[in-house]
Amino acid sequence: MQFNALIVEKNEDNGETNASVKEIDSSQLPDGEVLVNVEYSSLNYKDGLCIGPGGGLVKKYPHVPGIDFSGTVEESSESNYSKGDKVILTGWRVGEVVWGGYSQKARVKASQLVPLPQGLTTKSAMCIGTAGFSAMLSIMKLEESGMKKDNGDILVTGASGGVGSVSCAILSNLGYSVTAVSGKKNIENFLKNFGVHNVIPRDDFNHEIVKALESSAWGGCIDTVSGNILGRALLQLKSGCSVAIVGNAAEAKFPASSIPFMLRGINILGIDSAMYPFEGRLKVWDRIEKDFPFDLIDSITEVHSLKDLPNLGKDILDGKITGRRIIDVNS
Ligand code: NDP
Repeated sequence: MQFNALIVEKNEDNGETNASVKEIDSSQLPDGEVLVNVEYSSLNYKDGLCIGPGGGLVKKYPHVPGIDFSGTVEESSESNYSKGDKVILTGWRVGEVVWGGYSQKARVKASQLVPLPQGLTTKSAMCIGTAGFSAMLSIMKLEESGMKKDNGDILVTGASGGVGSVSCAILSNLGYSVTAVSGKKNIENFLKNFGVHNVIPRDDFNHEIVKALESSAWGGCIDTVSGNILGRALLQLKSGCSVAIVGNAAEAKFPASSIPFMLRGINILGIDSAMYPFEGRLKVWDRIEKDFPFDLIDSITEVHSLKDLPNLGKDILDGKITGRRIIDVNS
């Protein structure tokens, strides 16, 4: 049975990769217990890497990227899924080490799927996608570590990107006061539309660090960029508050000293959504269903088709994406 997928091929002589939509056959799909008719996928930072030269994530070519998808089960050899069930996949290195969701069909392990929550559609689930799942997970980890609404603004960095924008939307909806750091020009209206109360231009925050502590300002932080920006956020966290480190869109390294940990008792929370266990995933999707402001979906999302992905992949690596891009694989 033939269907369309985004195929990334590598020229072994010069190491260059090329991504294009091609017809493939279901016999080419990887092993797995469940065959899914994919309806939507989405664009995440890692997808940008895997559509392009791979960033070390892709081990074997040709490759089908797409680190998340939603769709309908076509066939399953595991009893927990039946033909017609609506499902979501995020993470588990699908779309990196095995073929992923930029395809009209995907075959995966049953343990990698979660049932689509009742209040979501396959489209709204991919508006959330890996980025939004990671945003919700970060908020839940911050709550567990004591984040409170009356303890000052929550700082969100890389705020106009996927993880950032969904973080801002959920935090604002929950009643937190949110300050966003963004490098984009004219982004205030976009961010304020979902409740952000203050926007700091990235250049104003991304200063060289000279002090061991700065005035305390933040009741928590979701950091998607790392580097100097994370370094400064750590110096400005209020006593006992935490930063959830989700991403490194700027760079992997960040400058840090032990002083704010000892004098303010701040905490770092690491976020790995890809390998998060099944029971925890159900709780995260429950909270998304309850706490994401779904009335804002149209203002945060653009819908694209498979053929748009080579350009979208470049755009996300260049930090040009605002909000979420979802991929209708059948359009
Ligand atoms: P996006 O590209 O959508 O968002 C990243 C944002 O970071 C950009 O929109 C931009 O926001 C900002 N940014 C980009 N480049 C720079 C730079 N050089 N310096 C400072 N800020 C920059 O990506 P995602 O939201 O999908 O992912 C964000 C990060 O989170 C990535 O590193 C990704 O790998 C990681 N991630 C981690 C997960 C986990 O489980 N730990 C899960 C999902 C994502 P602005 O213009 O507003 O400043």
